[in-house]
Amino acid sequence: MKRIVETKSAKETGALAKKLAGELPIKKGSLVLALFGDLGAGKTTFTQSFAKALGVRKRILSPTFLIMKRFPLAKGNFDNLYHVDAYRVAASDLKKLGIEKIFKEQNIVLIEWADRVENILPERTIRIKFEHGTKENERQITINRR
Ligand code: ADP
Ligand code: MG
Repeated sequence: MKRIVETKSAKETGALAKKLAGELPIKKGSLVLALFGDLGAGKTTFTQSFAKALGVRKRILSPTFLIMKRFPLAKGNFDNLYHVDAYRVAASDLKKLGIEKIFKEQNIVLIEWADRVENILPERTIRIKFEHGTKENERQITINRR
């Protein structure tokens, strides 16, 4: 299933993230959201609103100096939200950090620069691509799920 959404502001991208966070499937195991797009495309903006909608109170920063950060979730189907920045890493680095176990347990994992680690993404990963539009604050967001 493919859905394309155009947003005209960071706020609208945040609203989309919140909507998606409200439509999460209840299931066993992890849910992985692979985020694609250039610098400034909106991946972190999306992640911030998504996490907030799931009750994460801490501010999510662009994890430039961290590869992976965990945010425990107090309620809902999932135990933790992981925010991963794969910009500087290879799949083997994420494996060393235990990503395979994280994928097996009740976690939501959002991965920025997911193209860098495409080969380790679980089969049912939701892929979200962020692209700049013609105007400065426009973004085209393409959501692909199987
Ligand atoms: P990335 O994580 O992909 O590098 P960020 O989310 O950190 O991108 O940065 C996106 C920047 O673009 C932010 O400064 C945000 O305010 C701005 N922006 C402007 N319009 C939009 C939009 N429609 N959606 C998302 N971000 C937008
Ligand atoms: Mg970012």
